[in-house]
This record gives sequence, C-alpha cells and structure tokens, in this order.
Amino acid sequence: MLSYAEFYRRSIEQPEAFWDEQARLIDWHTPYTQVLDYSRAPFTHWYAGGTTNLCHNAVDRHLKDRADQNALIWVSTEVDREVTYTYAQLHTEVQKMAAVLKAQGVGKGDRVLIYMPMIPEAAFAMLACVRIGAIHSVVFGGFASVSLASRIDDAQPKVIVSADAGSRGGKVVPYKGLLDEAINLAQSKPSKVLMVNRGLAEMPMTAGRDEDYALLAAGLAGVAVPCEWVEAAHPSYTLYTSGTTGRPKGVQRDTGGYMVNVAASMKHIFMCNPGETYFSTSDIGWVVGHSYIIYGPLLNGMATIMYEGLPIRPDAGIWWSLVEKYKVTAMFSAPTAVRVLKKQDPAYLSKYDLSSLRALFLSGEPLDEPTAQWISDALKRPIIDNYWQTETGAPVLTIANGVEQKASKFGSPGIPMYGFNVKLFNESTGEELTGANEKGVVAIEGPLPPGFMQTVWRDDARYVNTYWKSIPGRQVYSTFDWGIRDQDGYYFILGRTDDVINVAGHRLGTREIEESISSHAQVAEVAVVGVADQLKGQVAMAFAVLKDPSKAATPNDALKLEGEIMKVVDEQLGAVARPARVRFVTLLPKTRSGKLLRRAIQAVCEGRDPGDLTTIEDPTALQQVKDLVQGS
Ligand code: AMP
Repeated sequence: MLSYAEFYRRSIEQPEAFWDEQARLIDWHTPYTQVLDYSRAPFTHWYAGGTTNLCHNAVDRHLKDRADQNALIWVSTEVDREVTYTYAQLHTEVQKMAAVLKAQGVGKGDRVLIYMPMIPEAAFAMLACVRIGAIHSVVFGGFASVSLASRIDDAQPKVIVSADAGSRGGKVVPYKGLLDEAINLAQSKPSKVLMVNRGLAEMPMTAGRDEDYALLAAGLAGVAVPCEWVEAAHPSYTLYTSGTTGRPKGVQRDTGGYMVNVAASMKHIFMCNPGETYFSTSDIGWVVGHSYIIYGPLLNGMATIMYEGLPIRPDAGIWWSLVEKYKVTAMFSAPTAVRVLKKQDPAYLSKYDLSSLRALFLSGEPLDEPTAQWISDALKRPIIDNYWQTETGAPVLTIANGVEQKASKFGSPGIPMYGFNVKLFNESTGEELTGANEKGVVAIEGPLPPGFMQTVWRDDARYVNTYWKSIPGRQVYSTFDWGIRDQDGYYFILGRTDDVINVAGHRLGTREIEESISSHAQVAEVAVVGVADQLKGQVAMAFAVLKDPSKAATPNDALKLEGEIMKVVDEQLGAVARPARVRFVTLLPKTRSGKLLRRAIQAVCEGRDPGDLTTIEDPTALQQVKDLVQGS
C-alpha cells in the first residue's frame, strides 16, 4: 500500500495519471479524450470530451445492486416524522420531479433555484435538475428576501422550487411571503414557482405562476425521464457565497470533475463503503450539504440521513440515537454544534450504542482544542477536523485515513489533501514562506483538482481578478485565510484576510450586513466586524453613526432603534446575518485617507491591542468604541 506522502506526491507531480485513476470511481457514458485541458489556465477543463450524468451516478447505477436498500433517510424532529426512501423509491421520486420540471419548460442549461427547508423534495429537486442537465442553485432557507432577490437576479432561474415553510425549534418559519417579496424585488422573474405544501403555513398562490407540486406530480408514479448525458464541464450547480464586496459570488461547479473528487473523498478521507449510512448534520443550503448530504454518500451507494431540526430537541441525545438506529459509520458536523452539545448532560453520549461510528468529521469554522478534546473523550473515536470552502468543493486540509492512518493534531485541520498544492505566501511581498511556523496567506497552486469551482457564474473576469490576483507577483488561488504550517507539515488556520466573518459555521460578508443596516432611514454610516464568541466562533458587531444622534440619546431610545435595525437585517438578509449588537457612535475610526479601521475596531471589541494607529484620523472615534465595549 502507498504511504500518504507518496499518494500525495503523485497527485501533484502527475495529476493526470492520478485523476485518471480516480475517474474509474464513476460511470462515463462516453470516455473522455483528455484528462486535463489546461490550455486556458487558470481555468481547468477536467475530463474533456467525456460525457456523464450526476443523477445516473448517484441513483440509477445503484439500482442493479441496491434497489431495495435505503438511499435517503429523512428525519424531522420539527414535525416529528421519519421517512425512508430506497434507491428504487428515490429513483421514482426524482423522475417525478424531473418530469414536472420538464413540463414547465426546464431543459439543459436552464437554472432552477431551490429555496427550501430540509425536506426530501429538496433532494429530489437537486437530483432531478442534474438528471435533465438543468443547473440548480440552492439558496439557504435562512436567507430572507433581499439576499434571495440578489441570487435570483444573478442566477436568472426559469423555475423556483420552494415550500410553504420551514420549522426551527418547533416554530414555523414561513417561506412563501419572503419568496413573493424576493420575486417582486428581482428584475429577473421566474416563469414558474413550484410549491411543496407541508401544511405548516399560509401559501397564497399567484395565478399563472405558482403551481402546487403535489398536484402536478400526482399520477406520475411510473414516469420515466432518461438522464441527459452532459459533457464533463457542463455546470451541475451554482452556489452563492460571500466575499469582500456586498455582491455574493455564484460559485460554479462542473459535473464530471466534481463527481470524481467527491466520490474519491468518500473513500480516501471518509473511509466509507457502499451500503453503509452517512450522517451530515449540515444544511443543503451550504456546500457541505451538497457534497456530503446529497452527492458524496449517494455516489458511494450509501444511505444518507437528512435531518431537519436542532441537535438538542427533543433532547441532546437525538443525533446519537440516529447513529445507533441507522448504524451510521461516518458523521459530519460543525464545531458550533459540538459546543452546543457540550453544554448539555454528557450522559446523552453514553446512552446509545455508537459502535458503528468510525469517526466524527468537523468543518466549517475553526475547531478549538477544548471542544475537540471534549468530544474526543466522550465519543472515544477519531475526531477529524477538515478545512475547505464553498469554492473548493471538498476538503483541502485534513487527514486521509482511508489512504494511511495518521493522528490528528487538535487545533490543526491537518495536511494538504491529494490534488491540492497548498502553499503559504507573504501577503505584501508575495514571497513563498517555506519555514515552519511562519504566518502567511494560504494559497493553492494550479492546476486545481477536479471538483474545484470552475468560475464565477457568468463572470470569468471576476473569478480571475478575485482569486488569482491577490498575492503580488503570483498566479495562485488565494483562500483569503491566514495560516501557518508547523514542522510536521500540519496547517493551522488563523482567520480570514478579508471582510468575511464566520458565524456558527455560516459564512457572511460584513459588507452585505453593512449595506442592509445602511438602508435604515436613520443610519448615516456603519461598520460591521466579526468578534470572537465562545459558542458561535464569531458574531457580527455593528457600530452605526446616526443622521440624527438625538434619536439614540437615552438608553431606551438606543435599544428601540437597535431592535428596529436588527429587524431590517432579519427581513432583508435573514436572522443568520443579524448582528449580536448594534451600538451607536458619533464617528467611525478611519484613516486620514478615509479607510475604515475594521481591524482596530475588532481588536478593541476582543479586548486586544489595536496595534499601530498612527494613520487614524481622530483617535476619539476608537475611544467611543472602547467605552461602549467596556461599558457593556
Ligand atoms: P464556506 O465557504 O462557507 O465553507 O466557508 C469557508 C471558510 O470557513 C474558510 O475560508 C475558513 O475561513 C472557514 N473554515 C472552514 N473550515 C474550517 C476549518 N476546519 N478550520 C478553520 N476554518 C475553517
């Protein structure tokens, strides 16, 4: 057996031979003629000339051996239901959805926006889209109308698939009103809206545009919709993510390369076998949900658990009871969820038989050592941190125990994964940092492996300018994360270099939140920063300058206005983006050239030294922030 070091070296030195071998994990309709066409660097075209289909590989090809095995296990502790679908049943449901989409005029290359809670129809819709060559764009159900409208305008979907409502902590979260508002705001209107009625909330229908999915699907039980064979580079989906500017980027992913990388990760990283059960607690609105609730487990012929609910409801044993019941072999969650569980009675962890579980994988935000240690002691299983991004599609830093067993180092997500030529660079000189424990920007040298984002949806220039031109003198992909590498080659991630914050594993752009707050009539100017938080990793803090400062003259007035501003953010972006506090100042700390000193504000909020302030225009501005923070 190859050591991981040899496996990795081969992936970097002979990427074509390496990825040619991995490509055997999936079915090709017609073989590719070239493993990698890199003639348009930094754009990669993996498996050029090959045709395939993501739904065929995730569903149809398993029918031969596992038609009666579980494919999708839906568990909702919100509505107290549990429904399982075998591969044969999933095949039927996906074809029904595909037939409905086709009847609405959706064809190859058309976009379908999916704005749904964690219900089976969301999975059917994703799989149905890729079955017919349509491009899905799932928008996290926690986003509200303005966030949704900007994504509708960028994706220009022909059809939107949605539902009457989600539910969180037993509380119904209606979707339809937000969706209608978003469509009103958007320039680009969908021709049809397919609604799944869960019977949870009002679902006013717009005649001629809105259709009840159940009515359209009734009677389609035996319908056959063949897979559309698409070129490997045909986009399978776009997924919006935040960056430095207020405008979210549509991360575009191919079909063939994505399938190969995700399938390979199931074997090399997650150590999973067909017929087993995988449980990712993420949401389909995030990349982890795409790769590890839907595509990875299904490509690998596994059953996947789709969970709607909280980790502590009806009690903190719910997830472990599912591990026992469905003999889960790999579980994937986020550090915030573990920190939530850590506050509960540890007895819940010893109540269930967890002997099937090989490892717990955690991702999405930094995993602090005490949290890792706590869950490791409680589960007595490997706890495997993994670092990646919406852009990368699969883990970049972790350990590949499916290739060679290695120990984790708590605090570090691990070492570079096969295919990722990870390097550190000085952000101002572009010098490569090769020594141990030097801090730099984590970057990846091309060619990027299969499954990485292809481009920014309809904006190649933005892809190149954003990701490939940020390190002086280098044509490398920047992750916009700070990192160091220790003497053993393990990386440590030290936070973002840009204005992106990470709240409970949710990636948010501070600019988006600032734009939303600024839309309040009283706000003249605002700065939003991410501040360290014990439970959520980071929370957003806002400091606003009012047009008329007398509006927040008394503590009561200030509180009232703070509540109003939070409501604006809730309504426009969604509660995920709501700042923990909105405080009022009379001016913001800026340099003499007018640049906002976010890092200094953040440092003060975290009780750290704000560093060099020689360029500050007016030091009293930072003092105001300090007084508010110390006074609270
Ligand atoms: P997203 O695109 O939403 O997956 O967010 C990606 C960002 O989350 C990365 O750029 C990191 O800042 C952060 N991140 C993800 N996983 C980890 C991890 N295991 N450790 C530290 N930070 C992480």
